Amino acid sequence: MREQDLNADFSQGRGVGWIDGVETPISISAVTDLISNGGQQKVVITDEGRIIALGSPERCFTAAQRRTIQLRDGTCIIPGCKIPAGMTEIHHAIPHSESGPTHTDNGVLLCWWHHRYLAASGWNIRMLRGAVQIMAPPWLETGPRTWRNATTSRTRMTDAAERKNG
Ligand SMILES: [Zn+2]
Repeated sequence: MREQDLNADFSQGRGVGWIDGVETPISISAVTDLISNGGQQKVVITDEGRIIALGSPERCFTAAQRRTIQLRDGTCIIPGCKIPAGMTEIHHAIPHSESGPTHTDNGVLLCWWHHRYLAASGWNIRMLRGAVQIMAPPWLETGPRTWRNATTSRTRMTDAAERKNG
């Protein structure tokens, strides 16, 4: 396979990826999610063993960014999902491939399941001045679709209650 074909496959989300020590291949979307979440770095190697692409580690959220986003979001941000922050992944609200920065203003917590199936689920996520907003999919919303603030962070909810009570 030509080098251009391999790069095109990866950038267009085709093909499969491999995890060291695991026999079964994983989808390119799972590879992309792992790269953004866990500090991995993309490397594309030809069948002949030549490294033809080395991704930037800037795509990966740092441990400090992760802790901050976990404090802000509390759990997976999909309403009703109670997966705790420590078991979530960080999703680029604006994809890295569309120049979305690896910044706390562009990272949100999603559980593994909601991260993998976000596009198919119909949930929409956006950041408004650094705060997470979410819009339910059409099949779940009975009225007009609206953006809502999303947080289950106990820290932020306690802060809001204290402000409200003076
Ligand atoms: Zn979830």
